[in-house]
Amino acid sequence: MSSQTDTPTETRQYNGACHCGKFKYTFPHAPFDNGETEVYSCNCSSCTASGLLPLRVPAKDFTFTAGTLDGLTRYTWNTGKYVHHFCPVCGTETVLTYDDNVTVNARTVAGLDLEKLKLKKFDGANLL
Ligand SMILES: [Zn+2]
Repeated sequence: MSSQTDTPTETRQYNGACHCGKFKYTFPHAPFDNGETEVYSCNCSSCTASGLLPLRVPAKDFTFTAGTLDGLTRYTWNTGKYVHHFCPVCGTETVLTYDDNVTVNARTVAGLDLEKLKLKKFDGANLL
């Protein structure tokens, strides 16, 4: 990661939820719509099936405003490193965790324009 500008970083509060709204989360982050935010678009069987676009968020500032991480249904496969968290009601893959990292499914972030993210292809089908 290289820093490309010297402009001060503003922070915005982002909110998101699964489809039915049983699980809601919030976190602060610099605006994602600057055209520089990279999101992996992975072609592994799991991401293809769920439509996951994992967006890294600050783990220490990430909180649920409805539901809890433990309330989500966990799913792991292959090495078990990546823990997929699904809403048990509506089935939305809302959060993906691995090691100490927290990512949210970019598709579940309110008001986020996916067209402004840099989708990076990740060949998970062959690398995972
Ligand atoms: Zn739900």
